[in-house]
Amino acid sequence: RAVPGDRAQPFGIGTPLRLRAALSRIATTPVERLLARPELPAGQALAARGLPARTVDGFLRPLLAALLCDPDLTTSSRCADLALRAFASGRLCLPEGGADVLPELLAASLPAGTVHTGVRVTSVATNAVTTAEHGVIRCRAVLVATGARSAAELLPGLRVPDFHPVTVVHHTTDEPPATGGHLLLDSERGGPVAHTAVISAVDPSRAPAGRALVSSTVLGPDRADVDDAVRRHLARLYGVSTARWETLAVHHTAEAVPAMRPPHDLRRPVRLLAGLYVCGDHRDTSTLQGALHSARRAAAAILGDLGTGRPMHTSDPVPT
Ligand SMILES: Cc1cc2nc3c(=O)[nH]c(=O)nc-3n(C[C@H](O)[C@H](O)[C@H](O)COP(=O)(O)OP(=O)(O)OC[C@H]3O[C@@H](n4cnc5c(N)ncnc54)[C@H](O)[C@@H]3O)c2cc1C
Repeated sequence: RAVPGDRAQPFGIGTPLRLRAALSRIATTPVERLLARPELPAGQALAARGLPARTVDGFLRPLLAALLCDPDLTTSSRCADLALRAFASGRLCLPEGGADVLPELLAASLPAGTVHTGVRVTSVATNAVTTAEHGVIRCRAVLVATGARSAAELLPGLRVPDFHPVTVVHHTTDEPPATGGHLLLDSERGGPVAHTAVISAVDPSRAPAGRALVSSTVLGPDRADVDDAVRRHLARLYGVSTARWETLAVHHTAEAVPAMRPPHDLRRPVRLLAGLYVCGDHRDTSTLQGALHSARRAAAAILGDLGTGRPMHTSDPVPT
């Protein structure tokens, strides 16, 4: 079950009318038209759009930095437009129970024993996969569905992009701030928190029993004082004392999100040769949707090559 944000009102009631109009326009602009626009670094494209500086600096820059995990907005403006369009359509949601739930549900729909986890692949060929734990497994086709770096290790020659590092800090408290399920952005760019939300107000199942969960994201390299700095910033953002909040976890991922600098290819090839395929966020947009789209393209290519009738889909999905 996806726990949605407020579909009818993806931006707050204080949003200026001109900005609302701009967001509504982008929500209804066909994807093809967005992708036909000139491609610049997102920061430059924003400056060239003729919007008031207050709207750009106070809202659009911090929002895009949060959506793209890119504080300097070097991402392709086309990818930024796609991210803004998805946001403005009001379709942001969280998988209830956590990010693991979606793959677990997909795996549960397959016959028992189809999926093996905790197995490290050390090399691949069109007809065999070598694993650290179970030796060689013969097969008719191989789809490498790892992150970009592991994919390039298994498939030498594949490009490794730069990455945006991300740190997520989880706090619990028995006195949650009164912001409901709204996402708070750092519009003053005082940092270090880029965005934060009382996640348990959206999905209570994620929080320890009887407590609220506040999850906050810091963009950029890891820093030793992250918890103290985040706590201080959260006190300013929420306007409450965070001194008694408990730190539940701090997760730093150095290679969290593949950078999408212009020119960004939204449909990198997924079929390397008959029998060898690759998918993941590094083949499409650096998002869950991008990873799923590339997987669908790869699955269609495999079915086509194996001659099991028509591919699942007659055309590529349109990026979202
Ligand atoms: C902190 C954080 C927050 C994010 N938030 C969002 C968000 O809100 N919305 C969004 O759309 N995206 C978000 N992303 C990005 C999103 O998680 C990724 O784009 C997405 O998970 C990519 O999926 P994937 O299948 O390409 O790769 P992954 O999800 O990285 O899966 C690759 C899998 O391959 C496995 N693997 C690697 N090497 C091997 C090997 N040799 N043998 C066997 N298995 C191997 C890995 O263990 C892993 O399970 C976030 C990422 C991070 C780090």
